[in-house]
Amino acid sequence: MIKGTGVSVGIGIGNIMRVEEHYLEYTPKQVTDTDREIKRFHDATDVFCKNTEIQADILKSSVGADESEIMLGHITIAKDPFLIDEVDKLIKTGQCAEAAFESMCDMFIQIFSAAENDITRQRAADVRDVKSGVLGILLGINEVVLSNVPSNTVICVKELTPSMMAGIKKENISGIITETGGTASHSAILARVLEIPAVMSVPDIMSIAENGERVVIDGSKGEVILSPDDDTLEIYRQKREKFFRELRELEEYRGKPTVSADGIKYELVCNIGKSEDAAKVLECDGEGAGLFRTEFLFMDKTSAPTEEEQFNEYRKAAIILKGKPLIIRTLDIGGDKDIPYLALGKEDNPFMGFRAIRYCLKNRELFRIQLRAILRASAFGNVSIMFPLVTCAEEVRQGKALVEELKAELSSQGIEYDKNIRVGIMTETAAAGVISDILAKESDFFSIGTNDLTGYTMSADRGNSNVSYLYSALQPSVLRMIRSIISSARQQNIPVGMCGEAAADPLMIPLLISFGLTEFSVSASSVLKVRKSIAGWTKQKADEVTKTVMGLSTESEIREYLKTVI
Ligand code: PEP
Ligand code: MG
Repeated sequence: MIKGTGVSVGIGIGNIMRVEEHYLEYTPKQVTDTDREIKRFHDATDVFCKNTEIQADILKSSVGADESEIMLGHITIAKDPFLIDEVDKLIKTGQCAEAAFESMCDMFIQIFSAAENDITRQRAADVRDVKSGVLGILLGINEVVLSNVPSNTVICVKELTPSMMAGIKKENISGIITETGGTASHSAILARVLEIPAVMSVPDIMSIAENGERVVIDGSKGEVILSPDDDTLEIYRQKREKFFRELRELEEYRGKPTVSADGIKYELVCNIGKSEDAAKVLECDGEGAGLFRTEFLFMDKTSAPTEEEQFNEYRKAAIILKGKPLIIRTLDIGGDKDIPYLALGKEDNPFMGFRAIRYCLKNRELFRIQLRAILRASAFGNVSIMFPLVTCAEEVRQGKALVEELKAELSSQGIEYDKNIRVGIMTETAAAGVISDILAKESDFFSIGTNDLTGYTMSADRGNSNVSYLYSALQPSVLRMIRSIISSARQQNIPVGMCGEAAADPLMIPLLISFGLTEFSVSASSVLKVRKSIAGWTKQKADEVTKTVMGLSTESEIREYLKTVI
């Protein structure tokens, strides 16, 4: 099995069709009639734009207007006045149209490829696509056409371009494997829209895979199995059947409110790690974002993002979510999340060390910058602030005092923000669980972080395989913590959500309904699954199951019992 990046879910079974790159080779020559050469270049871009318009039309009718915009974007690149002007100038120096156009495109590709931002980097692929399209026309070489491939084809290509995708007949394509590209590439977006399983960034696949070879791909896990044996093939056929069956059933829940069988309404929101994920929330029918893990903005960098950079990122998420809730968690570093430039230092026990809210309260400038950015973004949507790893009331008070100080500062500077912004906390430590009655009086809302709560309650590191048998949110101790946190929130009349992985566990859902959870925050891809699961329970039935569960003594007894009632 070869591992790549799963970018479009589903199981694909079929035969490999290698799509070889066209070698757009030519020998650069000096031209003397430069006017004629400029005309040849302009004619080629005209033909390219006309062809692309046709492809965009095909895409519009087969997939949708938004996706055809990707192709129309290629026309914008080909018609870019700066690009055309510079190519014309190079031709006037005597370069042939091919060489002039290629060198200008390469310059753009280099600039885009060097960008820090993933989306901008992916735009290099679009310019590459335009480059080979126009060069192909200048050289009289036809483009790769994927409209006439046999059924059960799994396309295998070094880099898949949006224009290759435009011609695709989805009925015949069982899957896509590429050697380069990632989740944010236009081709990955199109694969998802076309619902074709796809695995990208599969190392050396073009050197290994052979034409006609049988292949199985798992687009959720990013797995590729070449020449599977009969048993493996059968396993994946069954997985594919199950995938389709579940998908059909889940579609029923799209666009519906999240309600239990007896009509109790719940909030079903998503966990995100960057502003672009907010679009995925809407795509997957999430009702907002219950956890924005901001530490990802601080990783892969050599210094902390500025207030402006953070503001732009938070504002973008708020705008995309169009007034739907967006809970931004302040920097949660330490433990397993190191950020070298913050110099956290080596600690004997980093999970119990100088981290998250503890670090932020001591590094006030860093905290101020982040809180100012969040407050400013709150003018653009329905934003809340959430502190991670709270263990005592002082931390909440100090954090909230700083928020108040910054609100006054922004007011005096005439900068807009949401004056009623809610400030809540993650209840994810054993201490927070035990004093949840006290913390509920200090907070506007709770969000239960079961990933850490399980670890801190069971004294079992979330990443240590030797103690993983203890690490379960279904442990009686963890369930009592969760019950107590929810009960404290309800007594204080504040909303209580869960953003740890347990919120999407079908075994956990009846218990959460019975305890009185009000919000579930899950990964975008789990939204419909969780909505369906909630719809299967009445409060009364959930209470009966929970009563039995809370009378059991071990995790395995609880798990086995729950499996019988799901
Ligand atoms: C949690 O601890 O449950 C949580 C949601 O936060 P993280 O996984 O980022 O620690
Ligand atoms: Mg946590």
